Amino acid sequence: MNGKNIVEGAYVEIYDGSLKAVNPATGLTLEGEFDKANESLVNEALQSATKAFQSYRHLNKDLKADFLNAIADEITNIGEELVTRASAESGLPLGRLQGELGRTTGQLRLFANLVAEGSWVDAIIDTAIPERQPLLRPDIRRMLVPIGPVVVFGASNFPLAFSVAGGDTASALASGCPVIVKAHPAHYGTSALVGEAIIKAAEKTGMPKGVFSLLYDDGYTIGTALVKHPLTKAVTFTGSFKGGMALIHLAQQREHPIPVFAEMGSINPVIFLPEIIENQAEELAKKYAASITLGAGQFCTNPGLLLAVQSPALDSFITFLKEAIAKIPSATMLTEGIAHNYEQLSTEIVNENGVALLSASSLKNDELQNQSQAKIAQVSASHFINNPKLREEIFGPYSLLVVAQDMSELEQAVDVLEGQLTITIMAEKYELQNHRNLIDKLTDKTGRIIFNGVPTGVEVCAAMQHGGPFPATNDSRFTSVGSTAIHRFARPLAYQDWEQELLPDELKDGNPLGIFRTVNQK
Ligand code: NAP
Repeated sequence: MNGKNIVEGAYVEIYDGSLKAVNPATGLTLEGEFDKANESLVNEALQSATKAFQSYRHLNKDLKADFLNAIADEITNIGEELVTRASAESGLPLGRLQGELGRTTGQLRLFANLVAEGSWVDAIIDTAIPERQPLLRPDIRRMLVPIGPVVVFGASNFPLAFSVAGGDTASALASGCPVIVKAHPAHYGTSALVGEAIIKAAEKTGMPKGVFSLLYDDGYTIGTALVKHPLTKAVTFTGSFKGGMALIHLAQQREHPIPVFAEMGSINPVIFLPEIIENQAEELAKKYAASITLGAGQFCTNPGLLLAVQSPALDSFITFLKEAIAKIPSATMLTEGIAHNYEQLSTEIVNENGVALLSASSLKNDELQNQSQAKIAQVSASHFINNPKLREEIFGPYSLLVVAQDMSELEQAVDVLEGQLTITIMAEKYELQNHRNLIDKLTDKTGRIIFNGVPTGVEVCAAMQHGGPFPATNDSRFTSVGSTAIHRFARPLAYQDWEQELLPDELKDGNPLGIFRTVNQK
């Protein structure tokens, strides 16, 4: 494992200090030293990315697809070492990481196919109408073009799928933008292995040097310098609200502000309508206990809030939920900091007015460190409506059940919700007809609305939306998962009266990708 920063297509020697990876389950340091980057390397990475952009932006789409497929191949070639290292650094089980590995390579191949097919550039052609009176209409042709070097912050909770070669990197490279990754300190070794795979793929497919860089740090210095650097054109981030907002402010304060696509947390409310609770109390309780505690609750789509109307059936649901939560074994959380935050916030919340702890798992493994304890708390809708603290994300295997007196009070609780990545409605089909107003309110507050499912599990496909109104993300028009994630890194460019041979292929006469919108319009 090579723990040197990667800039200009090569490993760089610097002596500004070294970093070590830690196993969160044991607290022990893991093999490998990772060089701390400095601001001069940030500058070199941006300079070389900008140089690479000049050729990479024009690269034939099939060659770009080859590069993305080659990254997927090289990551696959690493073999067991990758998931073993990721598991040691994150505490996540091997099975989960095998799945995440498949998702990571699958995403790369999905973007390779998207680029090779080519229609994502949305080429629109309005040909000239010379005879139009009183003024002729010019020939105008528009398509999406890449914006330039993108800075990707690796996320702690997906060491593979949202990290060095995760969805952000794959979609940025697919769009034609070079990428500079700031490795997350929770998994330096995993980042190094994947970074090496990208470099090999870039060499094998003849990509320009500087198309990819990887920098290590354990504080805010490098992240801040990357966002402030004048050659950075966009930033992606998944993490805390505080971190995301800090980066957004930095980007806005620049002389030339740039977009930051920040996913900052969501409590993913689940609304249970009365009839389904009446009919399926036990089944729903088990399903939700599993979803709340999946991956120690460390998913951005974790269902952190359940809303229902009081009834004897809800009491049965609560009894089943309590039993199910009590049986969930502890799991290692991603980092000491995340485990500490979880313990502190989930303990503090039950001291809030009107909040009662319903159930906490007692199956804690005292031989391992940073173990999560699954918890469910309950509060009345009136307390929930009056206390904004109860609506904040607690990252981990925790959920708050809000009990309303009737549907009208439940709707009032919905009114105070902030923007979410997902909202789920659990109902008998026939119940939905009577709640059109509620459904409209819910759609206004989320990027994805789920019927009778669980929010955990985000399909990577063309129709996926993983981004919702603030504060779930800062720009709900975009997604960070699925093929349309590529649109974050492209801007429209219109060519007016341009010579055929100088136009991009997609806009040339006869290219099947060009959509002739108004060719016959007078
Ligand atoms: P984080 O603290 O937000 O950090 C994410 C990345 O951003 C790290 O590389 C961090 O750098 C960098 N960063 C944070 N604040 C910054 C700032 N002001 N300036 C420059 N860089 C900054 O997230 P985390 O470490 O993954 O976990 C902390 C908490 O975030 C969790 O307890 C949880 O509440 C939340 N979280 C939420 C989600 C979600 O999907 N909802 C996912 C992950 C985390 P350094 O670490 O190197 O300092």
